[in-house]
Amino acid sequence: MNNSPIQFSSDAPRLSVVIPVYNEEDGLNALFDRLYPALDQITSQFALSYEIVFVNDGSKDRSAAILAMQYEKRPDVTRVVLFANNFGQHMAIMAGFEYARGEYVITLDADLQNPPEEIRKIVRQLEEGHDYVGTIRENRQDSWFRKSASRAMNHLRDKMTRITMTDQGCMMRGYHRRIVHLVSQCEEANTFIPALAYTFANKPIEISVKHEERFAGESKYSLYQLIRLNFDLVTGFSVMPLQIFSILGMLLAGAAGSLFLLLLIRRFVLGAEVEGVFTLFALTFFLIGVMLFGLGLLGEYIGRIYQQVRQRPRYMVSAVLEQAKS
Ligand code: UDP
Ligand code: MG
Repeated sequence: MNNSPIQFSSDAPRLSVVIPVYNEEDGLNALFDRLYPALDQITSQFALSYEIVFVNDGSKDRSAAILAMQYEKRPDVTRVVLFANNFGQHMAIMAGFEYARGEYVITLDADLQNPPEEIRKIVRQLEEGHDYVGTIRENRQDSWFRKSASRAMNHLRDKMTRITMTDQGCMMRGYHRRIVHLVSQCEEANTFIPALAYTFANKPIEISVKHEERFAGESKYSLYQLIRLNFDLVTGFSVMPLQIFSILGMLLAGAAGSLFLLLLIRRFVLGAEVEGVFTLFALTFFLIGVMLFGLGLLGEYIGRIYQQVRQRPRYMVSAVLEQAKS
């Protein structure tokens, strides 16, 4: 673990914007057209320098080439980290954190769902001394299913972890270097960065930001990946699901014991009986379902422990495009 103190080199920019990119060839140029002017304007408004760290998460389309071209255009403020494979959005942000040098680090999606013009609001809060700027999406532009699933997960997370966020899913967020440094030291194989960062925040704040429809392409998350991500969120920050199962187990055992006693007494009072066989079947299958779910849940934790103990590298960087340090 790297425990070196936080260092600012004199030529490091004040603001780093970290953007994970996976198969975004159709939208990248539109992103550049809005992002660079927005940041240039912030530079003059707040008198701070910036850099943009793009992390190409093993895209299979032309994204890497487009990023390289953009690097040629603006090498002074652009850095590109190229992954050798697809390691997921949160790992891409982890790598971005590693390479970002700014005192403030802002993460952003590449699909223009988070308008770059809103970065200004986040910078203002960071300048005011907040070390974690969370965001709430103003009338979120996603499918009805995504929105209601999100709401349910937000609720569950709220009950099961000590993390309080209104809108956990919005990745456009601002962090102070101190928090980025702590997050970088966590060697978790699966994680959910906004939640992890929140656990280190001293003076968090939430602001609302605009949300737009995806500019081009489709969401890179399949239903399966969304389920996995939500398991990361719950298992990474709470063991309450396991405790719920222990309590449920106790209650069921208690109920079954009483039922047994009741049946025993009935046997002696009313005599032998074989009715209710199918009810018994239904009840048994239901309980088997509950048991399998519990077993699966245990597997979720154990699988993560297994991944963690193997200590394989979390991601592989194949190249970094950046200017040589003078
Ligand atoms: N992304 C990534 N790796 C992945 C999936 C997504 O780097 O495996 C990036 C993607 O390019 C985008 C951001 O993460 O910049 C958010 O992805 P997406 O817009 O598909 O998610 P949604 O908005 O649907 O939650
Ligand atoms: Mg998106």
